[in-house]
Amino acid sequence: MTCVPEYGPLARRATRRVLVRWGAREVAVGGGAPVMVQSMTNTDTADAIATAIQVKELAQAGSEVVRITVNSPEAAAEVAAIRDQLDKMGVDVPLVGDFHYNGHKLLADYPGCAQALSAYRINPGNVGRGAKREDNFARMIEIACAKDKPIRIGVNWGSLDQELLARMMDENSARAEPWDAGAVLREALVRSAIDSAQRAEEIGLAGDKIVLSAKVSGVQDLSAVYRELARRCDYPLHLGLTEAGMGSKGIVASTAALAVLLQEGIGDTIRVSLTPAPGESRTTEVKVAQEILQALGLRAFTPQVIACPGCGRTTSTVFQELAEKIQGWLRAQMPVWRTQYPGVETMKVAVMGCVVNGPGESKHANIGISLPGTGESPVAPVFVDGERTVTLKGERIAEEFEAIIADYVRRKYATAQH
Ligand code: SF4
Repeated sequence: MTCVPEYGPLARRATRRVLVRWGAREVAVGGGAPVMVQSMTNTDTADAIATAIQVKELAQAGSEVVRITVNSPEAAAEVAAIRDQLDKMGVDVPLVGDFHYNGHKLLADYPGCAQALSAYRINPGNVGRGAKREDNFARMIEIACAKDKPIRIGVNWGSLDQELLARMMDENSARAEPWDAGAVLREALVRSAIDSAQRAEEIGLAGDKIVLSAKVSGVQDLSAVYRELARRCDYPLHLGLTEAGMGSKGIVASTAALAVLLQEGIGDTIRVSLTPAPGESRTTEVKVAQEILQALGLRAFTPQVIACPGCGRTTSTVFQELAEKIQGWLRAQMPVWRTQYPGVETMKVAVMGCVVNGPGESKHANIGISLPGTGESPVAPVFVDGERTVTLKGERIAEEFEAIIADYVRRKYATAQH
């Protein structure tokens, strides 16, 4: 008997379910919830208007939670105003406060900030040293308990708890066969995250209020650390390759790292930490995170355009222009389509350069168009649900193709009310 080859990601790792709330909005992390997309602002939090505007942009792009740094009294003083501004704009995305060094003080001194945030990110490597570390950490956890807020224990190898690392290096040198330094560092990241979460539970925070992350900047290190975290605890995990970098390097490295883990069922929320080019929108990181999840078949956000790369058979730019135009047009429709046509985000639209793969690929899509390649008859057959319907030609192919897609969406995805 021949077995059917395996297909798709491995079963999602079973975790606790953490709820991040603002008003009536509730975002679930783990416990079988869809992998959640988050992002972080790069505005000065003390500038409440600029921060609220960027949070709104990120939320509109699809960020389901937005993190803001809370690094100073001036920033903490503005968090409630940022929240207020967002509420006035009808943006109910939950805000997470990112704390380092002085979070215990800021959360205690600015109760409005502690209340306006939906969750706190705590870096156990940056809460103080010695006895102060324990006290500061406990103070933040007590505030999270009092305000009923979840936390993320966010370890980062750029700011790993140095006392823990030194202790573990000593333990390692006492081993009969010492590990290499990289293995000790990875174990220190895992232990810092899990020990801190357990300490938070001992202080009184419920286990279903804790998300863990342990970010590194190397793809193989990230895989190793997260596999170990997944094996040793059932807290939901926030994935991200820290300091991924700029442009295609950052996108490829993040995709390589996150895709491997997500395919193994590891990861409950993701962020793509891209460095924007000067003038580039911060929302690129949200789009990339969505595209990673959609490419893996884990979630769907926007209809996908399947386009061939083009080759010597299609030497004009007509094909590239059409593919780009249709992709942009589909994205532009989504704010309305998302509410009126549920399921439209799973639609596939093929825009193909010539007859070699055009008709075949178009038939696999919901709707496809195959443009005339060099030397072919100057017509563009359109396929709908696998059947050839019309043939377009002339200057207005893009507009006519958009009208066909719009009509298809209305017929296929309209709910009973529309
Ligand atoms: S579909 Fe045609 S134009 Fe596109 S890559 Fe293949 S052969 Fe080239």
